[in-house]
Amino acid sequence: MNNRYDAIIIGSGIIGCCVAYEMVKKGYKTLNVDKLGAAGMGSTSGS
Ligand SMILES: Cc1cc2nc3c(=O)[nH]c(=O)nc-3n(C[C@H](O)[C@H](O)[C@H](O)COP(=O)(O)OP(=O)(O)OC[C@H]3O[C@@H](n4cnc5c(N)ncnc54)[C@H](O)[C@@H]3O)c2cc1C
Repeated sequence: MNNRYDAIIIGSGIIGCCVAYEMVKKGYKTLNVDKLGAAGMGSTSGS
């Protein structure tokens, strides 16, 4: 497995996921890291 990334994004709420989505569309390899158990479990879950 290739563990090299163009960007490591801290947080996988709506903002972190949108940043990843836009970067991946441009061909970048990204990794989201979040202290919670899954994507969208922060304040994003409130909305
Ligand atoms: C109860 C509630 C209801 C809401 N209702 C609405 C609504 O109706 N309409 C609306 O437009 N907005 C609403 N909002 C606001 C909206 O949810 C937020 O503005 C939006 O989700 C913020 O997204 P975010 O990605 O910036 O933050 P978050 O979703 O909080 O994501 C940030 C992520 O970063 C992670 N993180 C933080 N620090 C670290 C660290 N040091 N290391 C690793 N991970 C870290 C967190 O665990 C979290 O998952 C509501 C919010 C709440 C709380």
